[in-house]
Amino acid sequence: MNDREFEARYEDRFAHWLARMDGELAVLPADGPTAWIRRVYREHGELPVERFAWLAFDHKCRTVTEALRQVVADARESTHHDLEILPEFTNPSPGFPAGDVAVAGSAIQSFDGPRVRAEVADAVQSYLADRYRTVWPLCPRHQVGLHAVTHDGEATWWCHVGDHPGDRIPAGGPAAA
Ligand SMILES: [Zn+2]
Repeated sequence: MNDREFEARYEDRFAHWLARMDGELAVLPADGPTAWIRRVYREHGELPVERFAWLAFDHKCRTVTEALRQVVADARESTHHDLEILPEFTNPSPGFPAGDVAVAGSAIQSFDGPRVRAEVADAVQSYLADRYRTVWPLCPRHQVGLHAVTHDGEATWWCHVGDHPGDRIPAGGPAAA
């Protein structure tokens, strides 16, 4: 078997396993497998559903908690609202095999740092709008609310009016992963 055949077979098996996990757990974000899921497959192979569910849940708990701490610190600094937002965890269980991690009522879909940071930032932005009628963050040039996106593999605030990036999420850049 040459390298290309090996790789094709690997991708095939990965896709097959992932389809099974997604069928049981519905864990895939709309834009497909993420770097984290690929890493898990490379390191652990074809994990059974329940072990994968707990591994994924545990990883998401940690990633979301850290992202939320950083985003809340940014939001506090610029809005001066004393935000108290804690992540909400629902453990995997027979009736809800993937479990759930949510921020201010929004379920976080992704497993990868940059996408998680963008989703968490979006949830904090909605929370500020709902609770304090505060638009955060504002584009300093256009005075409109920015949108949390991933751009060039990093979480970034984006101005749709001027089609330009704003600050990174979090503003100082992410802590080393
Ligand atoms: Zn702008």
